[in-house]
Formats: sequence, C-alpha cells, structure tokens
Amino acid sequence: MHEWALAEAVVSAASEVVEKSGMKKVASINIGLGELQQVDLEIFKFALSQLLSGRLKDAKIKIRKTRARLKCRVCGCRWLFSKTGLDKSSREAIHFVPEIAHAFVRCPECNSPDFEVEQGRGVWIENIVGKKRCD
Ligand SMILES: [Zn+2]
Repeated sequence: MHEWALAEAVVSAASEVVEKSGMKKVASINIGLGELQQVDLEIFKFALSQLLSGRLKDAKIKIRKTRARLKCRVCGCRWLFSKTGLDKSSREAIHFVPEIAHAFVRCPECNSPDFEVEQGRGVWIENIVGKKRCD
C-alpha cells in the first residue's frame, strides 16, 4: 500500500539521520506533507507508529501540511493552489489525481495551463528532535 511505502521511506530516512547525529532517543519527528500528495493521513500515521523502532520508538509524529504553490511556465507568476478559486469538487479531484490539475487550473496572470507544481507534493522530514537526557 502507498501509505506504508511512504511511511517506510520516512522511517528509513529518519533512522539514517538519527544514526549520523548520534542521538540516543528521539522525542519527535516533524514531517512535512504536500497539500497535493495523495495520502490517507490515518493510515499513514498508523503505518509510521507501527514502523518506529529502536531509537525512534516512542517518538511523537507531527505532520504539517504544506500548501501547494504553482508556477506558470509562461510568465513566471506564482500562486497558491488554494487561491485558484476552484469549486470543491474540482479541488477534490485534483487532490486525488494531481496530474489532472492542468485540466482545471489556469495561470491567474496570463491564463496559461502550462505550469508546474513548485511546492506541495511529496512527504519529507522537516526535523527530528532528540530527547534530552534529563527528559
Ligand atoms: Zn502565466
């Protein structure tokens, strides 16, 4: 399942960071999640909680959603996906299949459908907070 694969990628990246930094225990892992990333948050969180082990065990998981930002390839204008003024059902369709965004979204400046998603896809680790010895 997609959520499990994402969770595995996050946990393995986090383990690597923790290994290198020499942290003994991890207090929390802050994860960024793009607005357009298709993910079932409940399943994703559950998968993470199941996969955490070793020094990562008991770490608190915080997931922060990041708003999607689009950039026009024609005129260079940047705008927020949430400001595109789409109705709810088109927005949901796009969340489900980000590729179809091009069928709905136009540059607010020059009306071109040729844009890229500059930010707002994928899952990444924002930071990892180690546990202090005295905690
Ligand atoms: Zn434009």
